[in-house]
Amino acid sequence: MNLFSLHKEDWKNEPVKGLAPFRARQLFHWFHRRGIWNYDEMDNLPAKMREKLSREYPIESVSILQWIPSKEDETKKILFELSDHQIVEGVLLSYRHGLSVCLSTQVGCAMGCKFCASTIGGKTRNLTRGEILQMFYLTQRKAEKKISHLVLMGSGEPLDNVEEVKGFLEILTDPDGQNVSWRNITLSTCGLIPEMDALAEWNRPLTLAISLHSAREEVRRVLMPISRTYPAKDVVEAAVRYQEKTGRRVSLEVSLIHEVNDTEEDLQALIQLLQGKGMHVNLIGLNPIEERSLRSARDIRLETFKKSLEAKGIRATIRREMGRDVQGACGQLRNSVLSKIE
Ligand code: SF4
Repeated sequence: MNLFSLHKEDWKNEPVKGLAPFRARQLFHWFHRRGIWNYDEMDNLPAKMREKLSREYPIESVSILQWIPSKEDETKKILFELSDHQIVEGVLLSYRHGLSVCLSTQVGCAMGCKFCASTIGGKTRNLTRGEILQMFYLTQRKAEKKISHLVLMGSGEPLDNVEEVKGFLEILTDPDGQNVSWRNITLSTCGLIPEMDALAEWNRPLTLAISLHSAREEVRRVLMPISRTYPAKDVVEAAVRYQEKTGRRVSLEVSLIHEVNDTEEDLQALIQLLQGKGMHVNLIGLNPIEERSLRSARDIRLETFKKSLEAKGIRATIRREMGRDVQGACGQLRNSVLSKIE
């Protein structure tokens, strides 16, 4: 039994026999308001109780392996080490509206996107809700400032680990924990339709971001093998259902790659697919990875896409690239560290 991963509701089932409800509330407060899971630090619990909890309910710990500040901006790249010595990444970003952390949900990824370093070694395992929570708390402690925004866009497909991700989010948004606003949370998916529909039924006001990357099926299938199961057209239909159910506008991520998906044909297909759907397009110049020969589209193509989409009533923004010098693209830093270890 991992007490750290329990939601408040779970504590009602008395996971620790004989523990008074007010002690359970104290534990939840230490874990999720204070971000502390070392029983020895819980100075409002009797020493005997701390000993018993340490002995009978040990909590495995994530640690920060590397904390790498960018020289170009406020971005910090973070490598976390899990208790089984697996390594995952996070990125801390600083915006006018506050700090935002981008966290991983799996060790590696099974989805096989061609432009992504996280998937090169496949998926090793899912992260637990407790591990993702600890990554959030460790980052906040190190930053010495409240983190207000969260993006699940690091390595891994969050909807391929949906139960742990939901459990993590329920605890993170709890008013007796960090109380992060659902509206400040973005979950990014490559478009797993059944899980998107289930997420719509779950009906929390988070932002769903979908990696679309191309509206041309023949291009998307090459970039994203998942498109053979869930084509772009069907993914956009599921996104419409999500918007209707939750009232939240869906974002579509389009990483533009030179001479792969940045042509006029790509632009027209995108307009045709998205016109009148009320979604927001985030255009990003591809953050290139060493392991692949793909290059970012030129800035002028990003501008052209933005102007042309907007001319057809489709809201579009060009997202700033941050932390390039600290290998901001997901999976890059982990791979370079692993290659040095192996
Ligand atoms: S882009 Fe996301 S879904 Fe695709 S392989 Fe990388 S981590 Fe997985």
